[in-house]
Amino acid sequence: MSEHKKILVTGGAGYIGSFTTRLLLEEGYQPTVLDNLSKGHRQAVGEARFIKADLLNKPQLESIFREDSYDAVMHFAALASVAESIEDPASYYQTNVTGSINLLEAMLDCGVKKIIYSSSAAVYGNPEETPIPESHPKNPINPYGETKLAVERILEEAVEPLGLGYVSLRYFNAAGASQDGTLGEDHSPETHLIPRILLAALGQIPQVEIFGTDYPTPDGTCIRDYIHILDLARAHILALEALSPGKAKVYNLGSERGYSVREVIAVAEEITGFSAQGKKIPAAQAPRREGDPEVLLASSDRAQEELGWQPKKSSLEKIIHSAWKWHKEHPGGFAE
Ligand code: UDP
Repeated sequence: MSEHKKILVTGGAGYIGSFTTRLLLEEGYQPTVLDNLSKGHRQAVGEARFIKADLLNKPQLESIFREDSYDAVMHFAALASVAESIEDPASYYQTNVTGSINLLEAMLDCGVKKIIYSSSAAVYGNPEETPIPESHPKNPINPYGETKLAVERILEEAVEPLGLGYVSLRYFNAAGASQDGTLGEDHSPETHLIPRILLAALGQIPQVEIFGTDYPTPDGTCIRDYIHILDLARAHILALEALSPGKAKVYNLGSERGYSVREVIAVAEEITGFSAQGKKIPAAQAPRREGDPEVLLASSDRAQEELGWQPKKSSLEKIIHSAWKWHKEHPGGFAE
């Protein structure tokens, strides 16, 4: 354990934040979760200390930093749906950009100079080369990606003059659940591919739509790089140990394997036993979803070389297996 012990985790009741909080606890850190519970679940926070607070309430943030000392911040809190960001960009700029500025100002005012930031593959837009290295041009094609990039730039601007140290982690497609089936993905409404396929398999939704079958990919559907949530959580611990004031680092986090929407459905049919019974998970072709790049596939060489990170659990089979256990055992998500 390093000098980083007391960690403020914004959005720690959300999907990626809750898994990272659990790992922080297991590794002997002292996480404090700050979440407004607009999307997150109190039950997902577990044993960690919890403060219900909103990043748009600056006076509240300032008092949180004044009341306690923190060694570093992990900043997960954000709105994170591409489709919603197209419908309501203002909310995305407000929550994701203004919220991050409030957080940065409050932490820097109290001398907290280290932050791990949840960025996204959405900062790249349509890739000009695949796999995508961190140096790839940043041309987001939806407001969600724009907000993630804007905050990366704000962080960059704070390094020299203010001595900020940050690690920005660009997630590819987070998926999967804990091996014991106690922690998983629970969005409302659920928009992500793997949970929707499994909800269709369970009969909780009538079918999964395949958004776009005319992309220039081998089977016409979008290709994504699915990364196990436990591998993502581990990367945050490694990034924490690499943090130092005045130093900036950016890492892609992906498995470096791409699967099309149809391939994901096929693997899910194997794992859920549908194939063995000669059945299909109900799926229907649908128009393209606005704002979706055709292929997103990471190069994670930098994270592997510099952080010693390995996406060990990220085979698609393992991801879907863990997610299937979660959805079967928690048909109502955390509400059960
Ligand atoms: N997708 C789909 N049907 C769904 C949800 C998603 O075909 O019900 C596709 C989507 O177009 C994208 C991929 O699956 O190509 C992954 O989408 P998801 O929303 O899971 O993550 P994103 O890539 O938007 O972060």
